[in-house]
Amino acid sequence: MRPTILNPLFADITALTGVGPKIAALIGRVAGPRIVDLLLTPPINMIDRSARPAIADAIQGQLATFLVTVDRHDPPPKGRRLPYKVVCSDETGFVTLAFFHARADYLEKVLPEGEQRLVSGKIEDFKGGRQIVHPDYITDPEKPDDMPMHEPVYPLTAGLSAAVMRKASRNALKRAPELSEWQDPSWRDARQWRSWLDAINTVHSPTSREDLSLLTPARMRLAYDELLANQLALIMVRNARVKKKGRAIDGDGRLTKKAKAALPFKLTKAQEVALDDVMEDMRLPERMVRLVQGDVGSGKTVVAFLAMLNAIETGAQAALMAPTEILARQHLESLAPLADQIGISLDILTGRDKGAARKEKLARLAAGETDILIGTHAIFQETVTFRDLAFAVIDEQHRFGVHQRVLLAHKGPRPDLMVMTATPIPRTLALTAYGDMDVSQITEKPPGRKPVDTRTIPLTRLDDVLDGVRRAAAKGDQVYWVCPLVEESEMLDLTAAEDRFETLKEILGDRVGIVHGRMSGADKDAVMERFYNGDLSVLIATTVIEVGVNAPNATIMIIEHAERFGLAQLHQLRGRVGRSDKKSSCILLYKAPLGETATARLKILRETEDGFVIAEEDLRLRGAGDVLGAAQSGFPQFRLADLTVHGELLAAARDDAKLITQSDPGLQTKRGHALRELLYLFSRDEAVKLLSAG
Ligand code: ADP
Ligand code: MG
Repeated sequence: MRPTILNPLFADITALTGVGPKIAALIGRVAGPRIVDLLLTPPINMIDRSARPAIADAIQGQLATFLVTVDRHDPPPKGRRLPYKVVCSDETGFVTLAFFHARADYLEKVLPEGEQRLVSGKIEDFKGGRQIVHPDYITDPEKPDDMPMHEPVYPLTAGLSAAVMRKASRNALKRAPELSEWQDPSWRDARQWRSWLDAINTVHSPTSREDLSLLTPARMRLAYDELLANQLALIMVRNARVKKKGRAIDGDGRLTKKAKAALPFKLTKAQEVALDDVMEDMRLPERMVRLVQGDVGSGKTVVAFLAMLNAIETGAQAALMAPTEILARQHLESLAPLADQIGISLDILTGRDKGAARKEKLARLAAGETDILIGTHAIFQETVTFRDLAFAVIDEQHRFGVHQRVLLAHKGPRPDLMVMTATPIPRTLALTAYGDMDVSQITEKPPGRKPVDTRTIPLTRLDDVLDGVRRAAAKGDQVYWVCPLVEESEMLDLTAAEDRFETLKEILGDRVGIVHGRMSGADKDAVMERFYNGDLSVLIATTVIEVGVNAPNATIMIIEHAERFGLAQLHQLRGRVGRSDKKSSCILLYKAPLGETATARLKILRETEDGFVIAEEDLRLRGAGDVLGAAQSGFPQFRLADLTVHGELLAAARDDAKLITQSDPGLQTKRGHALRELLYLFSRDEAVKLLSAG
């Protein structure tokens, strides 16, 4: 199916001269296994040896090229481990070329006494003279082309030399064919962008610092190509899904009305809007997949509940999936009173359900006696069957993979899907990360929440903070104490957290608990349970406290080594407090001195609690790849585009992709065929699969 013109690019890199299996493995780590991966890995730096100073004028440490006369060979005395020296000169002075472990016959050949040579390398002052240790290049001045004045520098890894990587990349470039133009001609011409091949060659051949910029026409063109491939694929996937028939879910409103009346509060405007979006989708006979994004505490659960009632009104069932046991239980506890009042039945299914009790639950579910099933991954098990699942909600969706979305979709006859996340994603990223879903954002929090008083305090004032914790605990306040986890040294961090646990035990006795990644789920749950019940004053956690867990009585969040956390993570953690009308505070303990980025991060946190503002700042400070994080499945990693600078290109690519899918949905026109090449080039396999031949 792949257009044959692309075949050379999809060959294994071992097809390149000089790339054996060992080197291929190393290149695989920094670029990828195929030749196209090398093309799509741009240089991150460059070497410039075009400076041509006289020997006396060269600056110490400068990389430069010198035209010299070879005066004298100075081999080391036998048996001494000294370098082999070759003394050269120009009319301004002398320079010594030094070679360790040199082969004399080779040096005599490349540096014949009395002749002129072009020598390139880093010049240094040494014992009152000037020297170059192991020049990078030595050539005949008649053949200056043997010495490249500019060389790209690629990302490297241990064991992979710059020269080997450069050669592989250069050889990959030689195999790149000219492809038909997939960009709209008027768009391309307005920007005076050149062809794809031209752009790829330009990006790989920088001759100045400016050429490395992400804003050169060549790089912009390639970034746009990548974004266009991304957006086109997302829209194609979305359209294919929508075309599949779903079911129209349109309740009569009797349960939602009752529930709204029973709620102890009024929905915020933002909640109403999100709920309307969801209900509207449900009514349509298409498969719904909608993401509801809202900060911690913005009240997503009740929106999900009301939408589930809409499904139940039609006689069908609904499911609510949570990533952890605790979260599932909390959902059950918070929804049970409401469910009772309006006369529907809730049940919970987690990994803990075993034996006869589990069997009974499954029987009730299959018989349709259970209206809403709340649960963890356990819901995916094959033995779990609904009588008629029409609507499923996934909470904290970033904890689940795309494939789990699919699993859930098989639990009923084409159920509608709503996914919720508290991880705010900047608008630009949302387009690429969630482009295949419709998105509603709850941008407003329920009224009456007091802002969290956020402070930064150096670790040297730990004693004051411990004092504060003692006073707070005496008043009946509850405290989260988070210790960082650095992956490379989980053990060390655990020790740090356990030390802290000991410190606090001395002050508070058995009113301190600790949870960490090495504990079993049940043990963790037990400790957390004691915290929610108020039996513990302080909960120490090594890792992130379970996402979304609600302990409204906790009012103090202390984050130790806050400088080691990302901005979004800090914001999530802070969201654990400030969930009631009580005054809450967040203390960011840091180790001085703070670097520039860490300072900026902590400052933003002090200044705002708006998750979307924080997400945008996070993007600016860290770059897109980092914000999304490799661990979060479903997010694309761009290789040429960088959303911190190419955000506007993304919006244009989005519009372009929409127009294309409207006017040429099957990619059958001439441009359509070029666009197929684009999709293959960037391995948008999910979209490629949707293409029919032709
Ligand atoms: P999240 O979006 O983080 O999942 P929740 O759904 O857990 O937030 O809601 C947080 C708290 O806010 C809950 O105790 C919930 O009852 C309450 N809440 C939700 N909506 C409103 C509202 N409109 N007014 C007041 N309180 C609300
Ligand atoms: Mg929640």
